[in-house]
Amino acid sequence: MAAETGRPARPKKRRGEGQWALGYREPLNPNERSKKDDAPLNVRARIENIYAHTGFDGIDPGDLRGRFRWFGLYTQRKPGIDGGRTAALEPEDLDDKYFMLRVRLDGGALTTRQLAVLGEISQTYARDTADITDRQNIQYHWIRVEDMPAIWQKLEDAGMTTMEACGDSPRVILGSPVAGISADEIIDGTPAIDEITRRFVGDPTFANLPRKFKTAISGQQDVAHEIHDVAFVGVEHPEHGPGFDVWVGGGLSTNPMIAKRLGVWVPRDEVPDVWEGIISIFRDYGYRRLRSRARIKFLVKDWGPEKFREVLETEYLQRTLIDGPAPEAPERPIDHIGVHEQTDGLRYVGGAPVAGRASGSLLLSAAKAAERAGSGRVRLTPQQKLVVLDVPESEVASLQAELAEAGLDTKPSPWRRNVMACTGIEFCKLAIVETKKRASDLVAELEQRLADLQDGLDNPVSVHLNGCPNSCARIQVADIGLKGQIVTDADGNQVEGFQVHLGGGLGLDAGFGRKLRGHKVTSDELTDYVERVVRNYLDQRGEGERFAQ
Ligand code: SF4
Repeated sequence: MAAETGRPARPKKRRGEGQWALGYREPLNPNERSKKDDAPLNVRARIENIYAHTGFDGIDPGDLRGRFRWFGLYTQRKPGIDGGRTAALEPEDLDDKYFMLRVRLDGGALTTRQLAVLGEISQTYARDTADITDRQNIQYHWIRVEDMPAIWQKLEDAGMTTMEACGDSPRVILGSPVAGISADEIIDGTPAIDEITRRFVGDPTFANLPRKFKTAISGQQDVAHEIHDVAFVGVEHPEHGPGFDVWVGGGLSTNPMIAKRLGVWVPRDEVPDVWEGIISIFRDYGYRRLRSRARIKFLVKDWGPEKFREVLETEYLQRTLIDGPAPEAPERPIDHIGVHEQTDGLRYVGGAPVAGRASGSLLLSAAKAAERAGSGRVRLTPQQKLVVLDVPESEVASLQAELAEAGLDTKPSPWRRNVMACTGIEFCKLAIVETKKRASDLVAELEQRLADLQDGLDNPVSVHLNGCPNSCARIQVADIGLKGQIVTDADGNQVEGFQVHLGGGLGLDAGFGRKLRGHKVTSDELTDYVERVVRNYLDQRGEGERFAQ
């Protein structure tokens, strides 16, 4: 009872989350307003017909910082602004007049010809930049809007696209780099990836989602399925045979969550329909009021996997799905580095750049080397690496030498193999600290200082560096995860550094690293810190004990 009036207190009205399915069609924030004002996919015509002629200064701000993303374009960071000022500045103060451009490569799949085209574009239009991202994309920098029509022409002539490489849309689908040729896979996910991209990428029906939507499909556990919005993971059903186990609601960033299994088994030819049902739930029931709660993981957390499955079956598929078993987690992370036999007797050969840093020249050299070795296919991996497929055994050694010459080490040290870094302050407007160069220095220093341990590292230690809390380099699932921030050094100065997360992992050790209070390190002290942690681990571990245990 309300104390003063004597009338019963009214139940507190809960604020809506902006879910379309519950009638919230009016935009509740500027991002939603922008998408309603004009369908994001319309921006391509404006880029080609207007902005390519007016140049950067003629671009409508709503397109520049919003709709451009649907075609893989972000403004890049103006050089020379230190990380301590990132949060205090307006986006326009951070904008350079150049763009980052992401090319989506679903499943990381490329022909050698496509790889060469990517290299040529880099050399002509992107000052020889071409990083390999941990989402199997190629990422350019220094792109001018005036060059976009020519770049799209070259990409599309070679069968590639930047469509929905970013934005609130179905982003690139991660797939096993060795799908169809690996002795360890339960089923090849490629036909499902191809069918989903054919049917749904660029479909306006799914081009206005509450936020980004990340998919992974693999017949083996090499695509970080636990941290995707939706993932299909190969599993053997005792009665029905090979198919896919379905996971929803994973993600990292500031509210990390491990995906939940729906407990269903889906045959490969039904994966696209089930995917369509799940992305439709996200579109219709996803939270659109706050950007910070708009990923599908928040809906899955509130509903739970049981209700999610029920809504999927009753409202979207109109049929019951088959119950299925959980896949067995592999003992070690799978990264495809080195030389491995394929099911057809040929070899695949995986090489590591340093922390995904590549270039147009590197891609061109790799394409030439692969072709010379008789291969027509290459793959990018979710660990920022490159794999050449279909190599006859007689060509392996010369290919390894040529890849090494190009900057892809097929016998890398554990550090080169297991260090990943996001874009960081060199180009990213959200960054607080430098990452790629820092990672490269770290690898070189650890290779020297820990040379005595290299052979003893039977369970390698992964080190991931992020330039800000957004976790593009998956810091929460690394053995040593480093989140860029400004920290105080021993003399009381504010300097670049990292908050440390320890003991995260995927597979058998799936879970997030612990953020130890006050556990921070300056960038300058990073190598000392990692060396200390690794030596302590090796000194104190039990028989066969992994870092995350
Ligand atoms: Fe940029 Fe932050 Fe992502 Fe790094 S983690 S690429 S700094 S948004």
